[in-house]
Amino acid sequence: METILLLAHTEADGSLARAATEAVSATRDLAAGLAGGSFVIGLVGEHVGRAAESLAGAAPQRLLAVSGPAVGQARYASDAAAVEALCRAAGAALVVAPATSRWSRALPGVACRLGGRIDTHLTSVVADGGAVRAHRWFYRQRMEGVVERTARPWFLVIDGGCYPAWTGPPSRAAVETVAVDLSASCSRTTVSGVVAPAAGQETIRPDAELLLVAGAGWTKRQADGAVHADEAGRLILDFLRLTRASLGGSKSLVDLSGEGHAVLPFMTHLNQIGQTGSTPRHAKGLSTCCHGEEPHVVGWRFVTERRAINLDPNCGWARGKADVVYVADAFPLMTKVNALLAEKGRVRP
Ligand SMILES: Cc1cc2nc3c(=O)[nH]c(=O)nc-3n(C[C@H](O)[C@H](O)[C@H](O)COP(=O)(O)OP(=O)(O)OC[C@H]3O[C@@H](n4cnc5c(N)ncnc54)[C@H](O)[C@@H]3O)c2cc1C
Repeated sequence: METILLLAHTEADGSLARAATEAVSATRDLAAGLAGGSFVIGLVGEHVGRAAESLAGAAPQRLLAVSGPAVGQARYASDAAAVEALCRAAGAALVVAPATSRWSRALPGVACRLGGRIDTHLTSVVADGGAVRAHRWFYRQRMEGVVERTARPWFLVIDGGCYPAWTGPPSRAAVETVAVDLSASCSRTTVSGVVAPAAGQETIRPDAELLLVAGAGWTKRQADGAVHADEAGRLILDFLRLTRASLGGSKSLVDLSGEGHAVLPFMTHLNQIGQTGSTPRHAKGLSTCCHGEEPHVVGWRFVTERRAINLDPNCGWARGKADVVYVADAFPLMTKVNALLAEKGRVRP
């Protein structure tokens, strides 16, 4: 029977990110179909006690940990050494991990050190009659591939939003500490600080229930012959503040800054949704001032409920790509929506 190891790292406050709890669900499903439900958890973090207690109810066969200040910060050298030690201690053949930026950086190197293989961007991992099948999408989510490998250890990195988050009441956990000398890794690279947007300023929120997409129409000449980019920016940011939605953009909009047109200053290429952008997973999506062309809409593949606001009753969304299309001017419409949201004091849509 192959040993399955779930890898998780703690966040700065000692908790586990949602992606880690989703990976617990993936591991439990895999273990149920392959190893009689048995799996090992490997934790990395400065203090792992709280995370260990929160995972004890998932019933791992063993709970291993590398902890201490040396792994309090994400750093390739110490993370890779810690994960390598955990894999060896567990005798892991299959290693499941969430696609956090920390793991995405460290795990490929560990797979190489252990002579294993790694597959990333997986959307599911399925046990099928003793075989393991890892599913992922290729060519910007247009083709689904199924991967089987004989090489071990096999690292299976699961994308966020593909499994439900595992929850269970905290309970006492017997943690086995895995000793690893991290002094060399720590002296080689020191973390001098973190540069991040001020809290509340970030617009990309993968965990949000709602995705708001802004298209190039926001920056085009309107009925009065003028461009109202400042007002557009205000309306979009007010909506994000009121709903905590995530912000996406069409390619035309995010490209505008390079063309000297009126721009929304908070919009970058990281916001782009579509064939050459991202394919986020949100329960709902609202497209505004965006035409809904196929290269854009392909990025909405995993958005469950789609609505669009467009002046043009013949826009792409109206051709079967959205559940509801509001044929309307987005400026007054979003002004009204924001006023209603503010009135109701609603935080989530
Ligand atoms: C190889 C390739 C890859 C591509 N990849 C991507 C990609 O990843 N993502 C992407 O987005 N695009 C991509 N594109 C480009 C895509 O085909 C479209 O050109 C782009 O999505 C159009 O952006 P838009 O709808 O915002 O702008 P436009 O086509 O200019 O549409 C603006 C819309 O705003 C509406 N509008 C204007 N004012 C208002 C108002 N007041 N109220 C309501 N509606 C209003 C107009 O009716 C119009 O429909 C790709 C193209 C190619 C060839």
